Amino acid sequence: MTADPTGRLPQAVGLKALDAAGIEQLMLSLGQPRFRAGQVVRWVHGRGVRSYAQMTDVPAPLRERLVDTLPLPFPEIIERQVSADGTRKYLVRLADGASVECVGLPSSDRLTVCFSTQAGCAMGCSFCATGASGLVRSLGAGEMVDQVRLVAEDYGERVTNAVAMGQGEPFANYEAVLGALRLMNSPDGLGIGARHLTVSTCGLIAGVNRLASEPEQFTLAVSLHSAVQATRNSLMPGVSGTPLPALREALIGYAQATGRRPSLEYALVAGVNDSDEELDALVHFCHGMLVHVNLIPINQVDGTGYRRSESSRLRVFADRLNASGTEASVRAERGADIDAACGQLRQRAEG
Ligand code: SF4
Repeated sequence: MTADPTGRLPQAVGLKALDAAGIEQLMLSLGQPRFRAGQVVRWVHGRGVRSYAQMTDVPAPLRERLVDTLPLPFPEIIERQVSADGTRKYLVRLADGASVECVGLPSSDRLTVCFSTQAGCAMGCSFCATGASGLVRSLGAGEMVDQVRLVAEDYGERVTNAVAMGQGEPFANYEAVLGALRLMNSPDGLGIGARHLTVSTCGLIAGVNRLASEPEQFTLAVSLHSAVQATRNSLMPGVSGTPLPALREALIGYAQATGRRPSLEYALVAGVNDSDEELDALVHFCHGMLVHVNLIPINQVDGTGYRRSESSRLRVFADRLNASGTEASVRAERGADIDAACGQLRQRAEG
């Protein structure tokens, strides 16, 4: 499947292409009162109905019209892997046949879902299986909400946290991602608290600035992976045009504007970004900023040649950062016995 050069979503995505504002526009264009949009959102995203026929308080002629004009698809699980630690990873097929991955991460008091914002990804990160195969298309807002619902239904539990950290660069699909977060946050939708909804980006500065100006308290995570420009450029070629000082400035601006602390993701790769020089650069980058650094053992992906750093090295990084006044923690690896790295399941299933 190739990328849609127009950026438009396939017709089969139907109502799932729309966010709440889009559904309201649709209802108004059909001559319906504004409140009808809230009813439809409650049925589709609050209750997760799979057909218009189930929307019993929506007038029958409108339901019939919608059936005739706008598909109401729901993704289908085509592969499901369960880790011994409870993590579940899903490969789901969307209405037009594109596939994406999503992951459920349970812990004692939460269920976190990692969802995809695009099928494939154009960013080309060198450690990522998704980046290797390029962008197929961006997802509609409803297709992102559906991934969270699908995981909630599979666990039979309410989802407490969701993070746009699956396939895709969320800020390359900003409008739809924001619409999805709002549907997840809305009491008419999934009712997840805004602070429990996180956007994880490669650090597209325009997106960081834009998120800082949104009224909701969504949280921000930025994949840094190196504070040395040349190393970062080779790990993350999609943002090689972004100078690190400009990213740093944007993050400082974000924290000032929102009063919220962004987190920096740093996946340690042996011999690539785990040297003392890299650590010095990271400490220097973070100094004086309101950030939290998540240190992660990189998920090994066949064909990249990358190896994870020793866990003692992660500890050294964490201790040095904490001693310098930057809060840092080592994130426990989840789903080590399944294809947990972003894009691995899809790559293996699709060859
Ligand atoms: S790590 Fe994320 S942003 Fe980078 S290529 Fe993979 S999916 Fe895209």
